Parts: sequence; C-alpha cells; structure tokens
Amino acid sequence: MKSGWVDRDAEAFVAESAKSGVDRDLALRVYTTRLLGRDPKLVLHGGGNTSLKTRMRDRFGEGVEALRVKSSGSDMAAIGSDGFVAVRLGPMRKLRALDAIGDEELVAIERANLIDPAAPNPSVEMLLHAFLPHQFIDHTHATAVLSLIDQPDGEKKCADVFGGRLAFVPYLMPGFGLAKKAIEVFERTPQCEGLILSKHGIVSFGETAREAYERMIEAVSLAEAFIARNRKSVAVTAPRNVAMTAQVAPIVRGACSAKDDKTDGAWHRLVLEFRASDPILNFMNRADLERLSQSGVITPDHTIRTKNWPLVLPMPEAGMLDEFARVTRERAAQFAAHYRRYFEHHNKRVGGIKRELDPLPRVVLVPGLGLFGLGRSKQDAVIAADIAESWVEAVSDAETIGKFESISEADMFDCEYWQLEQAKLGKRKELPLAGQIAAITGGAGAIGAATARAFAAAGAEVALLDVNLSAARAQTKAINATALPVECDVTDAGSVAAAFDKIAAAFGGLDIVVSNAGAAWQGRIGEVDEEILHESFELNFYGHQRVAQAAVKIMLAQGTGGCLLFNVSKQAVNPGPNFGPYGIPKAAALALMRQYALDYGADGIRANAVNADRIRSGLLTNEMIASRSKARGVSEKDYMSGNLLGREVTAEDVAQAFLHQALELKTTAHVTTVDGGNIAAAMR
Ligand SMILES: [Zn+2]
Repeated sequence: MKSGWVDRDAEAFVAESAKSGVDRDLALRVYTTRLLGRDPKLVLHGGGNTSLKTRMRDRFGEGVEALRVKSSGSDMAAIGSDGFVAVRLGPMRKLRALDAIGDEELVAIERANLIDPAAPNPSVEMLLHAFLPHQFIDHTHATAVLSLIDQPDGEKKCADVFGGRLAFVPYLMPGFGLAKKAIEVFERTPQCEGLILSKHGIVSFGETAREAYERMIEAVSLAEAFIARNRKSVAVTAPRNVAMTAQVAPIVRGACSAKDDKTDGAWHRLVLEFRASDPILNFMNRADLERLSQSGVITPDHTIRTKNWPLVLPMPEAGMLDEFARVTRERAAQFAAHYRRYFEHHNKRVGGIKRELDPLPRVVLVPGLGLFGLGRSKQDAVIAADIAESWVEAVSDAETIGKFESISEADMFDCEYWQLEQAKLGKRKELPLAGQIAAITGGAGAIGAATARAFAAAGAEVALLDVNLSAARAQTKAINATALPVECDVTDAGSVAAAFDKIAAAFGGLDIVVSNAGAAWQGRIGEVDEEILHESFELNFYGHQRVAQAAVKIMLAQGTGGCLLFNVSKQAVNPGPNFGPYGIPKAAALALMRQYALDYGADGIRANAVNADRIRSGLLTNEMIASRSKARGVSEKDYMSGNLLGREVTAEDVAQAFLHQALELKTTAHVTTVDGGNIAAAMR
C-alpha cells in the first residue's frame, strides 16, 4: 500500500479551504481523512474515524481547546470540514476519572459540550481520540491488519510484524472502557507510533496530518507484506453446470423473507446484491468452509451490517433447482431459528432489555456461484456485500498466516445490540414499499416514468423497461442512484426474458410489475388490414402476457406472492369509433388480468388494472390534443377536462392509482378508473 499524499494536492486543498475560512490543520485533517476513506482496504462504509486537537472560538468568541472528530456514521471518502464535530476537550478528558458511564449519559454529556449545539453526534469512538494526547489521530479497520490480529496469538504476531512500534490493546467493546484502556496502554509505552486494538483495528497518531496518515499506511503495508510472504496461490477450479444467478437469486430472496405477523399477505422482504470473484469462489471451495463461516466478524461494527454469520447454501446445479430451493428454505429457517436462540440467550444475560432485530441473513454464500449481500434497500445490500467481500479476504489471509479467530459471541451481541451502533442505521420511518422491487414497462414514457417515480418515492427499488434504453436511462437518473434502466421490447419474447433475468440478477427478484407499454392503432374494423390488428395485438395483448408470464415465474420462485398491474385503456370497456385495433387487444388485456387473478390468487399473486383516459403522453401528444379539440370546436383545456369532475387527468394521477393497487393487499381482479368521471366508460 502506497501513501496517497501529494504535496501539491495537499497545498492546493489548504489554499482552497482557506477561502471558506478553514485553517491549515483542519484542511489537512480533511485531506488525509479522504485519502484513508477512498481505499476500501482501509475503511468501509462509516467504519474508521479521525480527529484533530485544536484551539477555536466558541459562540461567545472565547478561545477553547477542542477535539474535532468525525461525526458518527459519516463517510470518510466524501467528508468536508463540517463532517468534523467540535467538542470541548477539557470536559471530555475529565471523564477518564469515572469508573463507568452509561451510553445515554455519555451521549448527553458529549452533546452538552458541543461547540455547535446543532452538530451531529460525534463518532462512537470519540473518547479514544479525546484521551490520547496527539494532535492528529487516525483509526481504521484495515483488512490486512485484521488478518494479522484476528488470531489466537494476535499480540505475538503484531510484535513480530510491527517490532514494538505499535502498542497492543486487548479486546474491549468500543466506547468508554476501550478509550480508558487505550490511554493506559499508551502511557506505559509513550514512544509508540500507534495502537493495535485487538480484534478490532489500528490507531496511528502524529503531530502532523501527514505523520499520522503515513504511519497508518506504513503499518498496513507491513501487515500486507507479511501476509504476501505467506500466501500460497490457489488455482480456481471452475465448477461445471452451475445455475444462473438470475434463477438462483429469487429462490434465495424468497427463502430470506419473513411473513408479516400483523398483516395477512404482507412480507418483510430484502433486496440483494450479487458478487463473484476468484477469492470468493476459492473461499467457498474450502474444505473448512463450514467452520470458517461460523467463526464471526472481522471487526465488531460489521455485525450491524452483516450479522455475525452468513447463511451457507449448497451449489445450485442447473436443472436441479427444485432440490436447491428445498434445501435453501430449510437452511434459511435454521438460520433464523439459530439467530433467535442467540438473541434470547444473550438478551437474558443483559437483563432482557433489548428488542430483537429481524432474524434474516444479510450475507448468503452460494458455492460455485458467488455471494449475496442483503438489505432493506439496494444501498444496504451493497454495503453488506462490500463488507462480506472484505470478510472473505481477511479470513482467507488470516488462515494463510495462522488461524482466524473473532471476538466471542457475547462480545458480538453486545456490539450488535449496542444502542450507539444501532443509531448509525438511523431511526427513519420505513416507507410502505421498503424492500420491494418494481418493474415498469414503457418506463421512459409519461405514465411509466411517473409510476416509477411514485414507486421509488414509496420505498421500492425500480427497474424502468423501455425499447429506448437511453430514454429509460435518462428517467432513472432523475429518480435515484439505484434505479435500473433495462432495454426491453415487449413484442419480443427473447428480449422480455433477458430483461427479467437482468432485474432478478440486479435486485434478487421482483414483487410488482406495472405492464404499461402500449401504442394506439386505428382503423374501421370491417376494413382494417389484418396486419394492423396483428401488430396491435403483439404489443397491446401479447406484450402484457409476456411480461406477466416472466414476472410470475420469478414470483413463484420467491414464493412470497406478488402484484401484476396492467395499464388497460378505457377502450377496453368503452370502445371509440374506428379504435377497434387498439380497443380490442386492450379488452383482451383486461380479460388477461382477470385470468391471472384467478389462476394465481392461491399463490398470493394479485392482478389489477387501471383504466386511464385522456392523459398527455406519447399516445396523446400535444399536437393530437390541438387537432382533436379543434375538430370538436372546444378549447384544449375543455377537451382535456371534458369529464364529470371537469379536471384534466395527469400521468401522476395514473401513477397514484397503480401505487394504491400495489398497496391494497386484499384487492385482486379489480379495475380502477382514472378518467375524471365518464359514465359511458364506468365499469359495470
Ligand atoms: Zn473502530
């Protein structure tokens, strides 16, 4: 590992920061924190923290000694000077005299001593920074260091590798106790350049930002070199006949879902992120996989993202997925039962005060294929997968130089259920479609894009399918970072199959499909060319059938129900003159919806439709509105609001109707009319 420090960059950053009143020390503190944060081998997702001791002025202009420390859970790669919370150093140091302090009281005292009372909470490891005397302190959970210290003889290995430059602090849970222990160890060995926190991470310090940072890089490089000297190369044997990720993922996702006890038909679902690489496949080929998989986390704060153990499955053989599904469900149930026993046992130990988190796995190992990270959102699934990859690497390396050993199960529980760690995950109220995956065809059009926005705002992960990939991509960019654009021509069976495989591989499955793609053809039915009817049926009927069929296949593999929503025009019930080529396949699509409701109700799959009329879209363009209103001798406004309510109906109104149908767990075979009121088109 090389130092990322570049004099010119550092000075440019200092000059740039000075413009907004940030002094040199703080600017360099930000600069090296970003250098650490951008390397996943040093810092992953909010793990790690840095600090600076400085003098500053408080609200009243008085000079105070302050600790500026990273705020809890913030991202070091993207941190700015405002990411460093300022706390009065004097009162923090006095805490050392106490024997013990409760978490809530500690947070209250910290908050009472913030220079800016509105600042976020400082890092949970703040006191360690406060007690140590150095001006700059860096702390990471560097992967190579973890391989070295997650060992039964970690202390001896550190002595060998670091030659006494880093002092060794035995394992204690992060927080007050560890901070006290760290300063005690430092005071016994004041010549050291940093500390090893057993089974947890590394601390480096210095009188300048550069010194602290480069001591960190040097120590990690020593650990890396030691591992590299011992590493043997392993040839990857590619297993044959492994099933596709798109087929395996929905089985895994379904097995790792839980029925909601309170609402019949509701599920607690997770989103998946898939990873495969030679190190991952090699790890899962190991004869001792069973033991290693149960051996625990590489650093304590990972437990809130990955739980303590992954779920391990057998290799999924192509053509044998029924058997794989059976074993997967069995092992997922065993995992949940094991988690509940773990919780009950340790909760009793701490006095029964904790509330159990869901017992579902957050990492699933699938030999021959790869691993899945699981989370309530795609973003959380990515974090779990990143940490799992780092775990595979650290455990594999630990085994090449000795034997991997984590903290005890009791210590893992204390971290997993430590309220300061849980606070990192946030207390945000969950959105109604959290954990669900929705696919919308015609996703780049007016109604499709509005529907995708509405579903994403309700917490679902969304895939926008469209024949025009670049238009779909433009819409996803406006939604969020995880929205997925997928090229799909619903008139082509191969294209539909490939699109749904892509969704299953990207998110792990599918819960809601909005079959919305369509286009209008006209012609007097007695004279119309048969080719036009065929074309319209391909898109406006068979398109819906292909999409629904592909969706149902994934939903059945998951076994957690699902929701099929169809955009059926009012033409389906109230035909317009010369609109037969459009209305007739739409009428068939309405019958199709009812058939799905009938045939798959027992599987918990609901099917509903929206009858929308007169929406500004690709089907009813501004030019068409102008010419039609002119032909009828009414204003455009009167033409668009020519309904019982006298209101123009928008794509957003249609989107809300689809959203309601997705949330109505007891409604199937239903049609919602969104047309401002039209008695001739009312359902009967
Ligand atoms: Zn730490």
